Amino acid sequence: MRPEGDAAAASAVAPVFAQSVVLWQRTHGRSELPWQNTRDPYRVWLSEVMLQQTQVSTVLGYFDRFVARFPDVGALAAASEDEVFGLWSGLGYYSRARNMHRCAQEVVARFGGMFPRRAQDLVTLPGIGRSTAAAIAAFCFGERVAILDGNVKRVLTRVLGFDADLSVAVNERTLWDAATQLLPPASQPEAIGRYTQGLMDLGATVCLPRKPACMLCPVNGICAARLEGTPEKYPVKTRKLKRSAQSLWLLQARDPAGRVWLEKRPARGIWAGLYCLPVFDSDAALIEALPERLRGSARDGSPFLHVLTHKDLHLHPVLVDGDAAAAMPGDGQWLAPDAWQGLGLPAPVRKLLSSA
Ligand code: SF4
Repeated sequence: MRPEGDAAAASAVAPVFAQSVVLWQRTHGRSELPWQNTRDPYRVWLSEVMLQQTQVSTVLGYFDRFVARFPDVGALAAASEDEVFGLWSGLGYYSRARNMHRCAQEVVARFGGMFPRRAQDLVTLPGIGRSTAAAIAAFCFGERVAILDGNVKRVLTRVLGFDADLSVAVNERTLWDAATQLLPPASQPEAIGRYTQGLMDLGATVCLPRKPACMLCPVNGICAARLEGTPEKYPVKTRKLKRSAQSLWLLQARDPAGRVWLEKRPARGIWAGLYCLPVFDSDAALIEALPERLRGSARDGSPFLHVLTHKDLHLHPVLVDGDAAAAMPGDGQWLAPDAWQGLGLPAPVRKLLSSA
């Protein structure tokens, strides 16, 4: 379908589409998740941020722990970054945790501890993009605004037969416009929450990237991709992420008591703000940074690969027998397992230390 045809396609199917999604959600959608059945923007926001790159089954435990420790946005804002990172540890993508903490602080500082009600204000907060802002505004305040996360893009491009390349910004804007046209009518303001949830549920449970369950889908009668017989060709996105590779050497020093030497990373760059083994660009730089009397104990650990979204990290642990009297590199400290386990650590470093 040409993008200019999408507005017509969206308005043609809009009434049936919205109604079908709402009815289906009522009987087949998800309703038992701990962030559902609430209009508390704090809980909705927390779940939206956690779910951005993580599956529901993983998020469940983290969500409960966060809400137990930080029952409201004020409690989260008042926490230290170390405590937030420690509780987040294992979810990865720590920029989400950092933005979440900043967002809580801004909600307190700019909005007196109350989340703003409109998507256009929510989107000014750190880490809240257009779709997350719309989800919070729709679920909690009944605003008639469209979400468009990855799952919803898949559903809508298939229903509309929208085959324009979504890596081109103008095409994505066209899809946003179509998503807005598909919303339940303004005369049914109570429908927006269930409709929004229904779209999320459809994308997560029926309209899957591979082998969508079209037979079970409430909009299969109006879905262009199903009629074409090629649902998996949507969404179209041609620009691939450019991948790069980097090698890093990790100083894995351990003292006779089993403590490891960890330092807090700078606020910018890789693993910003996390506790980490000292990182070096080369084996030689690592050895050079060691106190002379410890150099003889340095030996290579098993190198391993850690895959990030844009980059392959080739990590080379270097094992060293340290002691508290030696002047270790950087501004670190010796930490026993029960101390470092509660800190925010990069996933590969946690794995490395846990397996040692
Ligand atoms: S009919 Fe199939 S392809 Fe179309 S929206 Fe439903 S599940 Fe997705």
